[in-house]
Amino acid sequence: MSIEQWMKNLDRNELNCECQRWAFAHGKCVSFVQRCFALNDDSNVIPYPFTIYPSPYPRNEYERACRIQSAINRLVYRLAFDIQMMDSVLEKFIDCDPFIKRLREIYDHIQQLPYQSVAETCIIRTDYMLQEMSQFVKRTKLRLIEINTIAIGLGAAAKVMREWHKIFLTKIQSDFVSQLPKNESHDLVIESLLESWKIYDNPKAMILFVIPEREFNIGDQMLIEQGLLSRCDHPSLLIKHVTLIEISRCCSLNSKGILFFREFEVALVYYRTAYDPKHFYNEDIWQAYIMLESSCAVKCPSLRYHLAGMKCFQLALTEESFLKEVFNEEQEFIDDVTDITEEMFTIEQAMNDPVVQQRILEHPECFYLKQSREGGGNVYCGEMLKERLNEIVEKNDSKRYFLMSRISPPIRPSLICSKGSIIERQINSELGIFGSLITQNGKLVSERSGGYLLRSKPSSNIEGGIASGQGYIDSIYLV
Ligand code: ADP
Ligand code: MG
Ligand code: MG
Repeated sequence: MSIEQWMKNLDRNELNCECQRWAFAHGKCVSFVQRCFALNDDSNVIPYPFTIYPSPYPRNEYERACRIQSAINRLVYRLAFDIQMMDSVLEKFIDCDPFIKRLREIYDHIQQLPYQSVAETCIIRTDYMLQEMSQFVKRTKLRLIEINTIAIGLGAAAKVMREWHKIFLTKIQSDFVSQLPKNESHDLVIESLLESWKIYDNPKAMILFVIPEREFNIGDQMLIEQGLLSRCDHPSLLIKHVTLIEISRCCSLNSKGILFFREFEVALVYYRTAYDPKHFYNEDIWQAYIMLESSCAVKCPSLRYHLAGMKCFQLALTEESFLKEVFNEEQEFIDDVTDITEEMFTIEQAMNDPVVQQRILEHPECFYLKQSREGGGNVYCGEMLKERLNEIVEKNDSKRYFLMSRISPPIRPSLICSKGSIIERQINSELGIFGSLITQNGKLVSERSGGYLLRSKPSSNIEGGIASGQGYIDSIYLV
């Protein structure tokens, strides 16, 4: 029986109870704190919205995305460690983007210090959507949405989701259970962090999770913390979750660049914040960040990896000359990346090309306006794009923005468990593939690819943030 047929005969109340039981059994680990509420009341903690059953995904495109991750890892590594190449792109944005400018200045400051990080780590998630080639012939093409190098969430929750879908498919005796790919996203995140901590080579030194103030996305972080504690062979590994403002009050650097949190030496700094200018709302916070980056502690990501994830590099990926330089003319990598890159324009290019300009004005719903910002809430599409475009052109602030053609992924019906009930939605999906890098003195000591996250959202939504309730955690079965 197909999932859809099975769903028709289904007792929704029974299913809802089952979902609630499952979410409860996984406790707060698959949960977030509702925005604007405090963690001190359990009723404020609710499970992430999730799909009841997995979504179909073309096997060839999934396998391609997994394979391409090694090219993406190489790209991030190359950008991070070739400052001239990085600057050749950043220089166009630095004067119009104060956030990038300050980060780049801090990078110069760090290079002049007499000591350096013991190692530098980067956890990457490359996000894709499938472009539907035609409504009539079911053919799709993998398109790159973005490459993330900082504060990547949901790696742990993704693995738990896959387990739920396995339970569900087994219950309904669906053959699709054999089509669920393994998901090592959780292992990749934990093992990369644990390896980084070990490289520091002081079992008494602690790990700092640097979190935003009023963090609400707690579940995923708890799973990572539990994973680190359970896999670490040292019994007294200390992990502390701290905000940048707490760091400004409680951390210090000694003359050798060793970082301390109160009296504890710090081996590893894992950022789940520091990607948005709003996180740096006063100078104390900037100074705290500079202290962390100046220290010998391993950072995930270090500043150069953070910079390498800026969206402006994606624009550069559409230039063949840039790709050739990044990949030293290695055609296989160049082809891989060219194949997944979507059409993009600077605002200047769009305004100077009457055909493109007309396309945007007549069909603003076919484009996304972006800039080098992370964390959701920074993209515009449709009428909002037109309004924003007018504003930024009027303010002469268009240099840091760019336009990307909209991807239209296949839409399908699904069932969602959200806020204690089951709802039906027409959804589309975004696949994220994980990668990680660890470098010592600029040399790669570890490189991995593996694991995925599938986030689905109502097809009418512009974005699909999970914790904001706009999107759902999902998983895939391969078709
Ligand atoms: P962020 O770093 O804030 O996640 P993204 O570039 O991933 O920024 O954009 C946010 C969301 O907007 C994506 O998760 C996706 O749902 C949607 N999106 C972005 N670019 C496109 C595009 N070209 N076509 C369709 N949807 C897009
Ligand atoms: Mg994104
Ligand atoms: Mg992002």
